[in-house]
Amino acid sequence: MRNGDYLVRAVAAEGQVRAFCCRTTGLCEEARLRHGTWPTATAALGRALTGAAMLGALLKREERVTLQVVGDGPLGSVVAEADAQGYVRGYVRNPQIHLAPTSEGKLDVAGAVGRNGHLYVLRDFGLKEPYRGSVPLVSGEIAEDLTYYFARSEQTPSAVALGVLVEVDHSVRAAGGYLLQVMPGADPSLGGELEGAVGRSGPVSGLIDSGRLPEEILADLLGPLGVEELGRQPLAYRCRCNREKLSRALVALGPAELADLAAEPNGAELVCRFCGARYRFPPEELEQLGESAQRPAGPPGTR
Ligand SMILES: [Zn+2]
Repeated sequence: MRNGDYLVRAVAAEGQVRAFCCRTTGLCEEARLRHGTWPTATAALGRALTGAAMLGALLKREERVTLQVVGDGPLGSVVAEADAQGYVRGYVRNPQIHLAPTSEGKLDVAGAVGRNGHLYVLRDFGLKEPYRGSVPLVSGEIAEDLTYYFARSEQTPSAVALGVLVEVDHSVRAAGGYLLQVMPGADPSLGGELEGAVGRSGPVSGLIDSGRLPEEILADLLGPLGVEELGRQPLAYRCRCNREKLSRALVALGPAELADLAAEPNGAELVCRFCGARYRFPPEELEQLGESAQRPAGPPGTR
């Protein structure tokens, strides 16, 4: 895993601290290429994808999580989704956003996201009702907003760092993040200790750029508390879209809408907003879908 994206999970202070750290350079670059994002949008999407990857690491198998940041800035909204297997995907509503850097020379993610709005976390457990949590944005920088989410919505004191470094040619040079959480019943002084360690460590994108591996970053942060690595998982950008799912979405439009689409000489083209894949539906196929939309739903397997 030396060159690819991966996540390390660990505990420290004999299980009183739970920790995750990941390198996401490759998947953030793939997101940029798929969506044609400009640098500030690349950083916002990359931070959200990195945050989602770590939320994904908190899930059980078969579960999925969506992180959505909706602010009043020019980006519109940022959406990132992850599963427990390390697959992530996401998009920004307005990918062609680039703002002047901040006074410290950083990409102005907060300016692009907007400082007013909400962060939403939606956990999909498959058959059970999904869990939804939300908090107002505190800064629009995403990591701070996620920190606030954990504190307020899940009552878990956490430190979240997310970083994306964009190259002069607009490609992603380095990206990654970490999540440190103090478990219930832990020694109350641990929160302060973690804060101190985070303050001393510097921006996470710089650490990744200098070649520090996720396990080394965790060792730097938590070393004095005693780190125990629990496992590693590769991370990758992967979309879950396919023709069948989009056919079902078309059928859901109803017979009248499908008849309108079938009347177009070229039929319809649907573009997946998560990956940019294009699906063409010629008029004949839309007519067939229109017929199946008219039939009452029978028992499974009859249509
Ligand atoms: Zn897709």
